[in-house]
Amino acid sequence: MSENEGGRVREVRQTEDRFLASDVFEANARALGPANGTGAVEEEARSIPVYHKADVVVIGGGPAGCAAAWSAAQTGADVVLLERYNHLGGLSTGGLVIWIDRMTDWEGRHVIQGFAREFIDRMPPEGVAGPPRSEWGLKDDAKAAYWRLRTSAFHGIVSWAPTLDPERMKLLAQEMLLEAGVRIVFHAWAARPLMREGKVGGAIFESKGGRQAILADVVVDTTGDGDMFSRAGGEYEDDIEEGDVHHSMNTSFLIGGIDMERWLEFRGGSPDEFNQFTALGREQLNFFQTPYVTWRNDIGVFMGPRQSGLSALNVDDMTEVEIRSHRHMAAHCDFFRRNAPGFENAYMLQSAPQLGVRHTRRLAGTARIERKDWGNGVPVADEVGISPSVSPKYPVVSVPYGSLVPRQLDGLLAAGRHISCDANTHGFMREIPQCWLTGQAAGAAAAIAANRGIAPRQVDITELRNLLRSQGTFLSDDKDIPASQPASEAAV
Ligand SMILES: Cc1cc2nc3c(=O)[nH]c(=O)nc-3n(C[C@H](O)[C@H](O)[C@H](O)COP(=O)(O)OP(=O)(O)OC[C@H]3O[C@@H](n4cnc5c(N)ncnc54)[C@H](O)[C@@H]3O)c2cc1C
Repeated sequence: MSENEGGRVREVRQTEDRFLASDVFEANARALGPANGTGAVEEEARSIPVYHKADVVVIGGGPAGCAAAWSAAQTGADVVLLERYNHLGGLSTGGLVIWIDRMTDWEGRHVIQGFAREFIDRMPPEGVAGPPRSEWGLKDDAKAAYWRLRTSAFHGIVSWAPTLDPERMKLLAQEMLLEAGVRIVFHAWAARPLMREGKVGGAIFESKGGRQAILADVVVDTTGDGDMFSRAGGEYEDDIEEGDVHHSMNTSFLIGGIDMERWLEFRGGSPDEFNQFTALGREQLNFFQTPYVTWRNDIGVFMGPRQSGLSALNVDDMTEVEIRSHRHMAAHCDFFRRNAPGFENAYMLQSAPQLGVRHTRRLAGTARIERKDWGNGVPVADEVGISPSVSPKYPVVSVPYGSLVPRQLDGLLAAGRHISCDANTHGFMREIPQCWLTGQAAGAAAAIAANRGIAPRQVDITELRNLLRSQGTFLSDDKDIPASQPASEAAV
């Protein structure tokens, strides 16, 4: 960490354990002082009208929630999805996180498929920017150098990590869910889980229509922050990996009116000038971020400056990030207009309507994906998907069903960026493709549990894996899974 007037800046370097290089900063100054509240007030008990009785209710319509609702509804289950905002996609749309991280392994095998593949295949071609399938896995220097600047090559290998048009994503997610028969409820904030006979049996939500309840056999918590499992008394973890970016926050923004190809020519072709430029940016702005490509040449996305030392469970901290991020957007736009080739006519196009939260709580599940297991390459007995690893040093990571199942709580599954894993592993398991993967698995399992009248932890792994395969999920061959390792043991 280096100190400067505005706070501390730490440089996170790309290593074999972390794929993203970035500055992370911690500011001293705050825009607002503390609120003056003291004491507590009592809330009266009241009756709450029941809005709907579903088989599965999915709370949160981000990548994980969309995949969960779609998967469960494919089986014919009655599925409701509650979303607090006016669109689907969560951070991938409202958060302007339009760079979809790698779905291929280091050989170019397409390992995250299922909902992820169907979704991207159905995007209009003009809304997707990324390498053609024929180039996935290429180690060709020129191709890798080209795609490295365009979000889709790491460690000298071309991968499938495209950028997508967020408005097309919102629309497509909505249409896919409606086609599958999901009842979407926008503008509905899930306030708390509904406990029935000691287990989660639905949710209470707030909307302009007041407080209402949804009853369901299984609740899938895809809020990203464990809103449901934490309030239901489920155990969770919240430690962070200081040396990574996974705990930082910011509101992303789009800058329009640019010539991205000219910027990339400068960035990739003039290393000395580029280093001088970033030094000047750090000096003038204190906290500095460079843009990533998007689905259009005239728009760049800034997914920083990344801010640490703040909690996305604290409303004052969240407000602070928004205030700073709006200021950063204006300062970056002005600085880039003055100093960056291709940005002469740049303008502030849009700041994300959704705060960029990377980490808050992580479920304490019956299984936990851990850093120590990255290297073993053995599929787990309850595998529900495969994640690419962070570097070619490691094989793919087998994702266990147990990472979605709470240790004690029944009636609930968790998917997305708050699954059960250690802080190090969270660095990549929180990415959008992995959230699609775990969301789909949770949705499929919830539908099986609801259909059979059993708890999610009792779902038969073979039945679940067969259902996921029928929905296009890529899994290790059953013969590769150690027969001596029963599912119940893997899920401890
Ligand atoms: C700035 C930033 C940059 C990132 N960069 C990348 C990247 O380049 N590539 C990549 O793949 N990933 C990236 N990520 C990570 C990725 O975007 C997220 O981890 C992923 O979107 C998480 O998906 P999710 O479905 O678990 O949660 P979210 O996307 O957070 O979605 C949760 C949804 O639930 C809704 N919700 C929450 N609480 C409630 C409630 N109580 N009631 C009703 N609705 C609720 C929210 O409104 C939201 O729609 C980045 C993240 C950030 C913040």
